Amino acid sequence: MTDQPKSSEGSAAPFGGLTIDFGNDSPPAADGAGKPSGGEGFGGFAPIAILQESSPAGAQTRASGPGTSPTAPGGRESKLLIIGSGPAGLTAAIYAARANLEPIVLAGSAPGGQLMLTSDVENYPGFAEGIQGPELMAAMRAQAERFGTVFVDADIEQVDFSGRPFRVWARGEEYRGESVVVATGASALWLGLESETRLRGRGVSACATCDGFFFRDREIAVVGGGDTAFEEATYLTRFATKVHLLHRRDTFRASKIMIDRAFKNPKIEIHPNTAVEEVLGDAKVTGLKLRDTATDMVRDVPMEGLFIAIGYRPNTEAFRDWLEVDDAGYLVVHDETGSKVDGVFIAGDVHDHRYRQAVTAAADGCKAAIDAERWLESQGITEVATATAW
Ligand SMILES: Cc1cc2nc3c(=O)[nH]c(=O)nc-3n(C[C@H](O)[C@H](O)[C@H](O)COP(=O)(O)OP(=O)(O)OC[C@H]3O[C@@H](n4cnc5c(N)ncnc54)[C@H](O)[C@@H]3O)c2cc1C
Repeated sequence: MTDQPKSSEGSAAPFGGLTIDFGNDSPPAADGAGKPSGGEGFGGFAPIAILQESSPAGAQTRASGPGTSPTAPGGRESKLLIIGSGPAGLTAAIYAARANLEPIVLAGSAPGGQLMLTSDVENYPGFAEGIQGPELMAAMRAQAERFGTVFVDADIEQVDFSGRPFRVWARGEEYRGESVVVATGASALWLGLESETRLRGRGVSACATCDGFFFRDREIAVVGGGDTAFEEATYLTRFATKVHLLHRRDTFRASKIMIDRAFKNPKIEIHPNTAVEEVLGDAKVTGLKLRDTATDMVRDVPMEGLFIAIGYRPNTEAFRDWLEVDDAGYLVVHDETGSKVDGVFIAGDVHDHRYRQAVTAAADGCKAAIDAERWLESQGITEVATATAW
């Protein structure tokens, strides 16, 4: 088994007979600092508490900071329910709480959202040295709690948006809101390997825009056969010395233009009939165990990073009877954050398959909270508009 980091000498034909090689060989891999080599993972950061399944009816945390007043009886009624606690949901909560809407956040079974799956975040404004994803999310949650947001760390299973108050069920309990922000995100699809999960943020990623920069002068692989995989592979050639595109079939779903562009790129090697069996490495990715799906032959190849580009699943199941979804299953927005149900607003990756960034999701959360506040005011539910009272 190969378990040494790749050297320039070792890069000649790492895939042996499986390759279609359009490229020249790479210069030596630099050993710069960055996500793939950072062995510190999530250590040292206070985790966001995930409440026990046994907690009755979804345990709640209630803030006691300045300006906090009790939410309605049992903590299950609010002027605003926010569903999801990624950057979109938490930013909505910060704005709504500061506007005295006393929001309840149904935070889901993955509190903090997608950024909990990554280590260094270097493109969120305000952190010159970068910040760890879980640390950023813990800070956002603390900020929302400080202004009185109530959190329920449970998935919602069902909603009824037929009229006000809007009703939402989580762990069998009913929550009622005069307005709702849906911010349930879109989950990146993974291969499902134990080694892939263990090495997430340590060389394994699902976001080229977010993490490509960490792979300067490295040899990496992208898994997938659709447009996203080809697009990400092409994008990653800006940083990597070589990008191996791995696909388990011998045909690709990607458009011809994307395939042609990749085939012409000397830094991309395309490997059809190639499945990842295991990601190798302890503290960081050092290689891949690959299987030729045509011959079943297994081999280890040195590799310094792995991007999974096999798609996203928008978390919209519970809303499909009430809100519009597009062909890919994402929610459709009208007029910035609105939905086809007045009083129900949409924010973040649950509708956005174009940008998929923490900062755009946070911006959406801000807009949705302000829109909800203005809508509540227009309905006579709240008396004073505070959204612009900075
Ligand atoms: C590996 C990886 C690395 C990334 N790195 C970066 C980066 O460096 N910089 C950057 O800007 N972006 C990065 N991103 C993208 C970024 O994480 C997303 O764009 C952002 O998190 C989207 O925010 P969101 O709030 O819309 O959704 P999410 O963060 O996906 O949050 C969705 C929330 O909804 C909840 N939820 C889902 N279903 C339900 C339900 N039924 N009931 C209740 N709650 C529910 C979930 O538990 C979660 O709390 C990365 C993404 C990945 C996958």
